[in-house]
This record gives sequence, C-alpha cells and structure tokens, in this order.
Amino acid sequence: MSNHLFDAICAGIRSDAPFIETLEGKSWTYGDMLTLSARLASALVKSGVKPGDRVAVQVEKSPEALMLYLACVRAGAVYLPLNTAYTLAELEYFIGDAEPSIVVCAPTAKPGLLPIATAKNAAVETLDEKGGGSLMELAAQQPDAFADVERGANDLAAILYTSGTTGRSKGAMLSHDNLLSNATTLRDYWKFSSADRLIHALPIFHTHGLFVASNVIMLAGASMYFLPKFDADTALRLMPTSTVMMGVPTFYVRLVQSPDLTAESTAHMRLFISGSAPLLAETHRQFEAMTGHRILERYGMTETNMNTSNPYDGERVAGTVGFPLPGVALRVTDPESGRPLADGETGMIEVKGPNVFQGYWRMPEKTQSEFRTDGFFITGDLGKVDENGYVHIVGRGKDLVISGGYNIYPKEVESEIDMLPEVVESAVIGVAHPDFGEGVTAVVVLKPGASLDEKGVLTALQDRLARYKQPKRIIFVDDLPRNTMGKVQKNILRSTYADLYQ
Ligand code: ATP
Ligand code: MG
Repeated sequence: MSNHLFDAICAGIRSDAPFIETLEGKSWTYGDMLTLSARLASALVKSGVKPGDRVAVQVEKSPEALMLYLACVRAGAVYLPLNTAYTLAELEYFIGDAEPSIVVCAPTAKPGLLPIATAKNAAVETLDEKGGGSLMELAAQQPDAFADVERGANDLAAILYTSGTTGRSKGAMLSHDNLLSNATTLRDYWKFSSADRLIHALPIFHTHGLFVASNVIMLAGASMYFLPKFDADTALRLMPTSTVMMGVPTFYVRLVQSPDLTAESTAHMRLFISGSAPLLAETHRQFEAMTGHRILERYGMTETNMNTSNPYDGERVAGTVGFPLPGVALRVTDPESGRPLADGETGMIEVKGPNVFQGYWRMPEKTQSEFRTDGFFITGDLGKVDENGYVHIVGRGKDLVISGGYNIYPKEVESEIDMLPEVVESAVIGVAHPDFGEGVTAVVVLKPGASLDEKGVLTALQDRLARYKQPKRIIFVDDLPRNTMGKVQKNILRSTYADLYQ
C-alpha cells in the first residue's frame, strides 16, 4: 500500500546508514528508525489510534519522539506536537480543540493530564526524555514490521499549532504533500546529500526543527546530531564533524560572542541556515567576518512551510529572505484591496503553492478570510520584492504602526536604530497616543557599558528618518521579551507600555 510521505522517505535511505547520534554517544541507523517507527505505529494502533485520528504529543526532545512522528505518519494518524512549555490550562484548550484519541506526555505530567484527557475520551501514554515510558514498553512488545496505512498526497499528516506570537495559536492542517513537496524542494535547493551531518539543536514541536530539519535530513538519507537544546560550546565542538547547522537568530547571536568561532573551527561546515525570526544584518556581517561563512536566511511559517530562501550559490543578502522557492508563487498586495503591487512597493506578502496548508483546524471562517479567491494565502507579513528579486520582510501586519495617518514599518525604524554603534537591537511598536492615534515607540537594548540616552538616539535619527517615522519615546531595556523560537513578543511590549502617552 502506498503512504505518500513515508514511501518517499524510504526511497532515499539505506538501512545501515547513520541517522541520529546523541551527545551521550547513542546512535540510530535508518534501519533502527524503520524498526522503531514500525513498533511505535503498532503500539499506537494497539492503543486505539485509527487512521485520521489526532495523536497529541507533549514530550521532551528525543530520537524516540521523532520516531513517534514517523509512527503517526505510518499509521495514517495526524501528528500533533505541543510546545513543552504549555501549562495544563493551555493543554486543556489544545486537547479540547484537537480532540486527539491519545495524548503522549512525560511520565511526570501524566497525573495532571489524565483528568483532562479522560474528559475528552483520549487515552494517555508516556514517553520520557531517555526513551522510556509506557508507550515505549508497549512498542517493545510489537513486531519489527508494520503495514503502512494507505495515505494520499492530500491526507493530513500533522496539525501544527502556530507559535502564538500575535494571539492564540491556530492549528495548521498540513497534508502529506505539503510536507513532502517542501522538504524535497529544500533538499535540492540547499544541496543536501547523504554525506551531510546536521547539528540539530532546535525543538521538535515547531516546523523549523520538526519538518524543515528532520524531513530534509531523511529525504537526503543524511544524519544529524540530536541535541536537547542549543549551546554555543557544544555546537562549536561538533562543527568539525558536521556540515550544516539550522538555527534561529539567537543561535548566531550567541555564536558570535564566542572567541572560538573562527574560520578554522567552522572549516568543515558547508552551510549555516537561519530562520523563524529576522536575523540582524549586524549578526550576519559579524558571522562572516569571523568565519568567512555567509549565513543563509530563509522565511517560512507554520502554515506554509518554507516560502523563500537566499540562494545557495548566488549572493546571500543580509536583511533579506531571498527568492521565492521553486514552485512557490509570491506576490505583494495592497493589504486592504488585495491589488497586486509593483516591485519595490511595500504591502502584504501572499503565497501559493504545494507547500501551503489545508486550512486552520476547525476554524473555517478564519481559513476563508486568510485566502484570496484565486488561492493565494495571506501571510500577515508585510514586505517588498526589490529590483533584484530579493524578498524583504518589514514586519507583521499586526505590528504596523499607524501614527498621524501615516503607515510606519517597524523594521525601517529598527534598522536605523540598530546601526548606532551603542545599540545591540531594538523593537519598534505603536502605543496609543492622544494626538497621533499611535505613537512610534522604540524599545532599545544597549551594548554593555554603552552610554546613550533618549535624546542621543533621537538626535541620531533626526536626519535619517522622516519626522513622522521618528520615535516619540525611546525606552531602554536589558533584553527584549522572546519566546522559545527567538521571536520578539511585541504584544508583551505593547501591553507593558500601553499607558506611556496617557
Ligand atoms: P502566530 O501566527 O500564532 O502569531 P507566529 O506567526 O510567530 O505565531 P510561526 O508560524 O512559528 O508562528 O512563525 C511564522 C512567522 O515567523 C512568519 O509569519 C514571520 O513573521 C516570522 N518569520 C519566519 N522567518 C522569518 C525571517 N527569516 N525573517 C523575518 N520573519 C520571519
Ligand atoms: Mg503566524
């Protein structure tokens, strides 16, 4: 029987080839992956999981947890990973929303989860960070082979909740072909082969670590170091035996602070990829100065997998997210009317292609309002395409500041502030203002020991930005609030400073 995604993974692997290695020196070949995912698939079926059922998983990162994703695909179930930081109250919402037939959690979380799951008729099994737990015990009793459940291109493989940066997380329904088509494109675009070894330090409840990293590795028959979390020293130690790293910008910010980051220590690496949040142009330049490597920045989202990427061979331009990937159509439109805009004009980024999701789980109205009638998905990100075809992101639609009737794109102001030698980074937000509607407000992180005050920043911006774009107030903080994917939480900043102009 054919299983669209898993058959494609099987086509490119050799069972004796290495797949995963952990810091404890444990390793799994692709043959081990086939056996373990088969046993787990049988264990799911034994626990009552039927094709199309959701399997909710909130566990620490481990190779077994990745095998559980594959087991779901093989069993025709819908994998639904949940952020390990979610509290019981949040889990209650997700379980109520997704109605999984089983919840897999850490053994320590089981007592709290049991009443919530039971109320929704979901079974509970456990999986710990060392690969133990009740689900694994059940799996150990199952045969080495599993007859994969028939799944076509459009059948669901996963529901992935968005990061919740702008509001309540939404469940994005992703089909077998959404995942397969994008991973195949990325494997080829980034020139992955079985000779590659990836430093995998991202969480696997999010699209970046789960689909971009893992699916690309498997489709190439390549291998990875699987790390519980990112740590600059560990990453540097693994670079001489690795070829690629995928990271969020925070990884790179931390790496450039290490004196051990040099051309020599990165000589074995062929590619550094960044995404999930904007990479500071300054970090890009610093990284290149220290190593000779130009970080490749790409842009994607839970709903669409990856949309654009800087080129592998051509010029990787700092501050841009590169070109639309092969097969992805991208356009910039007027946010209100939806009218396509010319290159160079800033507006709403819309995308269409086999990568774009099937809709938000149980939110038909929301789904309908985020798609144009010709099938383009409205990403919510504002940007432009420059004269060389590179896509620039200037911020999210929800973060646009409207002051005195003018639109102000936060990135433009942030870039100017970030260029000041005393500044590490900044976040520009709109705060309710009695005269202007919203007042442009900059929250700024200074370099240690730097002395720059509000007046100093404002004076520096005077000749660089039109008056309406200049911040009304500058606020200095030690750190910007970020979530686990390194995204700046502007909603928190907006509520913290809500009364600034009152
Ligand atoms: P929510 O939709 O719940 O508010 P979220 O949009 O942060 O959360 P994700 O799907 O994890 O959830 O993130 C996708 C978003 O991340 C994109 O829409 C974009 O705003 C941002 N993003 C991803 N890559 C980049 C990048 N290279 N540069 C700038 N922004 C990026
Ligand atoms: Mg989003």
